[in-house]
Formats: sequence, C-alpha cells, structure tokens
Amino acid sequence: MLILIWLFFIGLIFGSFLNVLADRLPRGETILGRSKCESCKHELAWHDLVPIISFTLLKGKCGYCSKPFSSEYIFAEIGTGMMFVLTWYLSQLNHFQPVQSIVLLGVTSTLIVMFLADMRYKIIPDSMQVVFGFLAVLIHSLAFIRGDIEISVYLQQFGRMLLDGVMVMAPLLLIFLITKGKGMGFGDVKYSFVVGLLLGMWNGFIALYISFVLGGVVGAYLLFIKKMDRKKAIPFGPYLFIGTYIMYFFETDIILLIQKLYGLSP
Ligand SMILES: [Zn+2]
Repeated sequence: MLILIWLFFIGLIFGSFLNVLADRLPRGETILGRSKCESCKHELAWHDLVPIISFTLLKGKCGYCSKPFSSEYIFAEIGTGMMFVLTWYLSQLNHFQPVQSIVLLGVTSTLIVMFLADMRYKIIPDSMQVVFGFLAVLIHSLAFIRGDIEISVYLQQFGRMLLDGVMVMAPLLLIFLITKGKGMGFGDVKYSFVVGLLLGMWNGFIALYISFVLGGVVGAYLLFIKKMDRKKAIPFGPYLFIGTYIMYFFETDIILLIQKLYGLSP
C-alpha cells in the first residue's frame, strides 16, 4: 500500500515533466531550458512548478501576469500519478517481476506523452516511439539478460518480434496507402509497429481491434451529441494507446471475452 502512495507522488512529479515533453517534442523545441508562461513568456521558477501545490497556491493562475494556466497541466500531473498506481497494481495482479513492472512504468510514461501530444498537436513524436520500441524490446529481453535463455533462442525470438511488428503494422499501412493518409496518420502506422514488438502479432491485432471499436463508439457518440464535425479528423492515436494498455494487462480476459462474443471455443 505504501508503495502505491509513494508511486502516486512520483507520478505527480513525472507527470509535470511528461507534460512538458508532450508540449515541446511536437513543436521541435528543446526539452532542456525552463518552462515559460504561455501568455507572458515569463520564465517559471521551481516554486511555480511544484505539482498541485503551486497550482493551488497560485489559484491556477500565472504568478506574473495572472492569466489562468490551462487545467490540462494539473490533469496531466494527477493523471500520471493515477496511471503509475494503476500500472503497478495491475503488474502485481499479473505477477510480473519488479524489473518488468518498472519498465512498464516507462512504457506508461511514453503512452502518456504520446496521448497528450496527439490530442494537442495531432502528432505522435518519433522520439517517444523509439523509446517505446526500446522498452518493448527490453521487456522481451529480460529473460536473456538474466541468462535464462541461450543466445540462439533469443535471436530467434528477436527475429520473431520484428516480424510481429511488421505484421501488426501491415493493415494500418494499407489503410494509410488506400486513403492517401486521410484515414490514418503515418504516426499511427509507425506506432503499430512498436505495438507489434510489445504485444506480439495476435495480441497486437486485438489491440488494433479494441482501438477501432473504441474510436467508433466515441466517434458515434460525439456525432450524436453534435460535438464533432463529420469532416474533422479526430486523432486515432489515443485509442491505439488505450487499446495497447488494455491488451497488455488484460490479455487473458479480453481473449476470453472475444471467444464468448463470437462463439469460438478455446
Ligand atoms: Zn504569465
């Protein structure tokens, strides 16, 4: 229990940093250098940036020009704290080893940055995809690093992993080519490759399936309440990220559910 509380606070601090990444990476800005107020461009001091506390003390406004900060910042911080707790909890539920659970906190962090960046700028930063891909490979290399498997077996697994990535990417690449980039951004295509690395081919496909269903349901709902223009493209990335996360932690339940839904016997 204590570790969950601790992780929530670590998540708050990380969330503040991930939020900066999500804002700067898509705009090609350096991730070093201090944060500035979006309206008056005044550099923010460390005491302006303490998660939650600064926001509360400053009543959600810039201490220099009194323009309100976007509430997205505080949501990103609290959201990251909650996602860290959830990721750890689900890792324990799945009996993952501590090392794997820690790497998964990293995976969750990249998902959060990509989620925020895609929502705000409709861009999935390449650098985050590379980090995600690296962490995915790392998770599948843990057994080899521990010395539990031979290099020849590992190399075979590695080749299989790359093939899985290509297979999961294929359908999205096809949609991208057929619709000439209108149905799907190339960022989504690249991302589906790293999903294949993490989840493997079949689970990767199921993650895509979950994403399409989620996207369809939310899109239909937004059309229904007339919040969305039929012509406006909504980013697909966020659904992909949610689909990936769900499939990683609820693999068994999802497969059972799909078998039930379609009357397939295991
Ligand atoms: Zn300001």
